[in-house]
Amino acid sequence: VSRFEGITMAPPDPILGVSEAFKADNHELKLNLGVGAYRTEELQPYVLDVVKKADKLLLEKGENREYLPIEGLAAFNKVTADLLFGADNPVIKQQRVATVQGLSGTGSLRLAAALIERYFPRGEVLISSPTWGNHKNIFNDAKVPWSEYRYYDPKTVGLDFEGMIADIKAAPEGSFILLHGCAHNPTGIDPTPEQWEIIADVIQEKNHIPFFDIAYQGFASGSLDADAASVRMFVARGMEVIAAQSYSKNLGLYAERIGAINVVCSSPDAAARVKSQLKRIARPMYSNPPVHGARIVANIVGDAALFKEWNAEMEMMAGRIKNVRHKLFDSLSSKDKSGKDWSFVLKQIGMFSFTGLNKAQCDNMTNKWHVYMTKDGRISLAGLSLAKCEYLADAIIDSYH
Ligand code: PLP
Repeated sequence: VSRFEGITMAPPDPILGVSEAFKADNHELKLNLGVGAYRTEELQPYVLDVVKKADKLLLEKGENREYLPIEGLAAFNKVTADLLFGADNPVIKQQRVATVQGLSGTGSLRLAAALIERYFPRGEVLISSPTWGNHKNIFNDAKVPWSEYRYYDPKTVGLDFEGMIADIKAAPEGSFILLHGCAHNPTGIDPTPEQWEIIADVIQEKNHIPFFDIAYQGFASGSLDADAASVRMFVARGMEVIAAQSYSKNLGLYAERIGAINVVCSSPDAAARVKSQLKRIARPMYSNPPVHGARIVANIVGDAALFKEWNAEMEMMAGRIKNVRHKLFDSLSSKDKSGKDWSFVLKQIGMFSFTGLNKAQCDNMTNKWHVYMTKDGRISLAGLSLAKCEYLADAIIDSYH
């Protein structure tokens, strides 16, 4: 009998488990709209041309494979903070940002969670309802208590702004408020610039600490600057801000695990101390981060021509998703005779559409139509092609009614 008898079978991951189920299905019309990964119109994974070029340059340079410092590649840490806050942001010149390379968005969030657990014993994190499925796991495993603020209103398929503000107001002073910098996952619903200002007002009034998760910079609108506007507005108010970044989507570097955690502090001294502690947390967890993705990002951003190319490719990817969004809306509107208003599909931004399908309806999508998606009703439009929009519309309409 095994010594591991007491270990029960873990349930499949609600997002990555969808890909496993998809692989096992042999139906020719099957469609994987589960994981948020960009696909071409032919539904193939896409390696950015600019990444291929950067890779080639790296190979030619033949750099060594020595360990990186615990905090990561210096050139990467510099450009990642520049990209997020803007290179001429005073917080950078004043050395008030603690930046540490992380294992993509997830690993960066995990470092911040560990920092909160260690130094804010009564610290509580507020996350949106709903949110990206892994947020709860990250804070649970880091032993950081969390609760939810209202975000999605099923009646309007839009933002429950009043509920959101009321819940942030009601949270204990000094709570960490987790915000999606742009392209909210899973709803695709972002606050307007005016609403962001009010959110910042309330967070400031309550002495809360804004904690941004920005996994789609450049991918929502096609512009790196526009997508960082929310984060920059909070920083411009002089607030201390935490921000976790990911290059999985905007550079298609999913498997390279490249991202960063940034803590904007009110003094360079505090930033230096925070950075030292982030390194102390990282060391026994994974020692130091991988180098390849960091070099790719640093080389692309550090080279004017490559940077321009990246921006163009990002615009192309964001544009393809927008086209698919329009086609899906058109297909739903023309095929559905029930009078249902499908305009929410157009209002949402980023990779996803939150369909409002409940669990049973999602099961119908998968079991009858071979459309794989998460059970919260989210579909990844990045995994959809123009050619498949009509089929998907048929599946959605059949499942709704
Ligand atoms: N945060 C959000 C909201 C996400 O949607 C994702 C990826 O789907 C991540 C973080 C982190 O992804 P990764 O760890 O691949 O960077």
